[in-house]
Amino acid sequence: MIKLVVLDLDGTLLDPSGLIDPYTCTVLEKITRDGVVITIATGRPFQRTLLPLRENQVYPGSTFPQFLICEERDIYELQSGEYYPQLENSELHSQEVKLLPISHQLLSRLTEIAPSLEFAVNNSYSQQTRGFLELYFVTRTEAEEAVRILVDLSRATPLKVVRNGRNVCLRAKSSGKGEALVRLARMMKLELSEIVAVGDSHNDLAMLTCGVRPATTANADEEIRAAVARQGGYVAAASHSRGVGEILKHLVCL
Ligand SMILES: [Mg+2]
Repeated sequence: MIKLVVLDLDGTLLDPSGLIDPYTCTVLEKITRDGVVITIATGRPFQRTLLPLRENQVYPGSTFPQFLICEERDIYELQSGEYYPQLENSELHSQEVKLLPISHQLLSRLTEIAPSLEFAVNNSYSQQTRGFLELYFVTRTEAEEAVRILVDLSRATPLKVVRNGRNVCLRAKSSGKGEALVRLARMMKLELSEIVAVGDSHNDLAMLTCGVRPATTANADEEIRAAVARQGGYVAAASHSRGVGEILKHLVCL
């Protein structure tokens, strides 16, 4: 029996318009009433995670999502209508900030090896507050080339490379949607087999392949659909938000 559902936000629960499909909202309300816990797992910072929930009138006032995983690292819990950070969030953030000098070294090496790559980097305020370096590429091909180089350069470091579309992040190995999801499962004393995770992109791969029941939507990257299918997961016929409704109806509703 499924007890926890973890949903990526952009490209998955949200339609390109930023809205949640009304049918999917109804299914989410139903499974919440049945006792299933809903969690959002996103690369967005906390405040920017609340924005689409507000726009969709899910927050404040709704009984879900009961947890948010923001920045692919920080866990927040809904208590009496408000989201409160877990105590370990600040410790994990500090650990990641300490790795910024190594990220900058890797960035310098990347520029030396591939001077023709065009990209922007998040500013130092963002690096400190979010805890990591994010590179924004003009094309996906360039982002993929940078990932190949950075993966090689980061091998002997405590860092990993995470791509989401045209953006590439240098993250602590303890960060990532998969790692955060495993922490949440431990906290809730759940087996991974009691969890469904849904995502559409490469930054979702870790949570889709960590032992939970994986699912994805029709709009997902080809490699993500292939990875989910390989594990016997569910690939929805519908895209984005409606695809999430289809997945929940298929895997969670009794
Ligand atoms: Mg996504």
